[in-house]
Amino acid sequence: MKDTKRYRWVCPECGAGKLLGKQPPLNLTDRYCLECSKTTGMLVARTCPVLDRKRKAGRERSKARAKKKREQMAQKWVVAGINLKQELARIWRIAQRLEPALAGRPRPKLAVFQRKGRYSSGHTYALRKIHITCGTDPADIRYVLAHEVAHSICRIRGGGCHDDIFKAAEAELLHDTGIRGRN
Ligand SMILES: [Zn+2]
Ligand SMILES: [Zn+2]
Repeated sequence: MKDTKRYRWVCPECGAGKLLGKQPPLNLTDRYCLECSKTTGMLVARTCPVLDRKRKAGRERSKARAKKKREQMAQKWVVAGINLKQELARIWRIAQRLEPALAGRPRPKLAVFQRKGRYSSGHTYALRKIHITCGTDPADIRYVLAHEVAHSICRIRGGGCHDDIFKAAEAELLHDTGIRGRN
């Protein structure tokens, strides 16, 4: 469908206008004010204020949409007032300091689920992935995040599930992150 709508294109120097399409060809003489071009010795192009305003509004709308999307994406990680992604990043950095063998490793990917009860639970998959099911208590969410990261430290130190090596790693990590244990 051809858009036959006409818009007023005006010369920025003298204000003289012409009715042209939405995108007049660049070599169309009406696109330029020939009088002003002659006077100034340079091609003076007409502009279309209506289209410029529309395009500007469109750009602002898509900027606002992108911002909203970014905010929604960030919001997705917030449970019980805790930004899980940020908190995991913080705990991971401290774990890397405690256990240099973790230093080169990327932060585990995080998947978040929710439950209605107070307590949270989690699972770590081979240093690469942490699943956390968040309850309603923010302190417990943080504890479970730290607990799962402690599994990574423990694994790299050759420990097993919840053995003494694990317990030592968890204690160090809780201490350095300032996160309270469960008991
Ligand atoms: Zn002009
Ligand atoms: Zn565990």
